[in-house]
This record gives sequence, C-alpha cells and structure tokens, in this order.
Amino acid sequence: MSSSDEEGSGEEYLFKIVIIGDSAVGKSNLLSRYARNEFNAHSKATIGVEFQTQSMEIDGKEVKAQIWDTAGQERFRAVTSAYYRGAVGALIVYDITRKTTFESVGRWLDELKTHSDTTVAMMLVGNKCDLENIRDVSVEDGKSLAEAEGLFFMETSALDSTNVIKAFELVIQEIYDNVS
Ligand code: GDP
Ligand code: MG
Repeated sequence: MSSSDEEGSGEEYLFKIVIIGDSAVGKSNLLSRYARNEFNAHSKATIGVEFQTQSMEIDGKEVKAQIWDTAGQERFRAVTSAYYRGAVGALIVYDITRKTTFESVGRWLDELKTHSDTTVAMMLVGNKCDLENIRDVSVEDGKSLAEAEGLFFMETSALDSTNVIKAFELVIQEIYDNVS
C-alpha cells in the first residue's frame, strides 16, 4: 500500500491483491471479468499477464487495485514469495463443482499466511456458481469454512458475472478500512 498526495488534490491509494487457488478454478477469468469484462471459455493456464490495475472511488478518493494472477505457476506449486510480497488483499478461489479444490483452501491459506507480514483482507470465493446442476460443495460448507477462518465469503460466476465486481470491491473496501 502506498498513499501520497497528487497535485495537491487529495490522496491516492494503491493496493496489491493476489488471487490464489488450485488450477482451473477460474482465477484468470475472475480477473479478466473484473478488469476488462471479458470471459474466455478456453483460457490456457499459461496465458495471462502479471497483474491488472482497476480503480474505484471510496470517500471521493481514487483507490487503485493492482490485482495479481498466478499465470499458471500454481500447477507446479511454484507460486513464489515475490507473488505474495506486499499483498494487502487476497481472493482464495475454489470451484464449487470440484470438492478437491475446496479441500485445498487450507493449504492456500497457510501459504498466504507464511508469506504475508501485514494485515491481509481475505475473501473465500466459490466460483462457477452458474453450474448449480453439478455443484459438489454446498453454500453452507463454504460459509462455515469462511467463518471458521475469519474470511469474507461469496459465490461468484466469471461466466455470467454474478458477484464478481462485488467480491473485488468488498476486498478493496476492507483494505481501505484497514489502512485509513
Ligand atoms: P485458473 O487456472 O484458475 O486461472 O482458471 P481459468 O480462469 O483459466 O478457468 C479455467 C476454466 O474454467 C476455463 O475453461 C474457464 O472458461 C472456466 N471457467 C472459469 N470461470 C468460470 C465460471 O464462473 N463458470 C464456468 N462455467 N466456467 C468457468
Ligand atoms: Mg490462470
């Protein structure tokens, strides 16, 4: 996080947020949906940029979120400490149609906590909620894990856009509240 005066016209905030979770849960698509309103049905793990920046206004101030995507390293369990460095927010994503991705959440949380040296606003995200017919993780299970771990919780769909903006903006708002 950094805060500085810009042309004497008030403050500007820059928050680093990381997206973590197992391969193919929809991390890259959540980011592209939020930052560019795009969805890719055939996205490859290797496609992706390091981060994208998106702004919102809080209390009349411009707040920029620099949101990092793993670009596929999670496949090899090689998400580096540089990825986490300086992060003040995190979305921990699982796929509601694959229980194994939900069972990995604890490991992702451990890794996040190991690498963070500051307060991190964390949101547990159950993605692909458009696939209700093949759901494998109940909303209740998501909620209770989030409660037990002290995380915000939301189910999203990068495909039909459900709760995507909400999830990111809630994390950004929480970070803002943490630092202001
Ligand atoms: P990542 O490996 O976590 O970055 O996952 P991707 O964003 O690459 O998505 C993996 C696959 O899931 C792709 O085929 C996406 O099109 C698909 N996908 C991502 N989000 C959703 C979603 O919300 N609903 C559905 N039905 N498919 C999704
Ligand atoms: Mg990806």
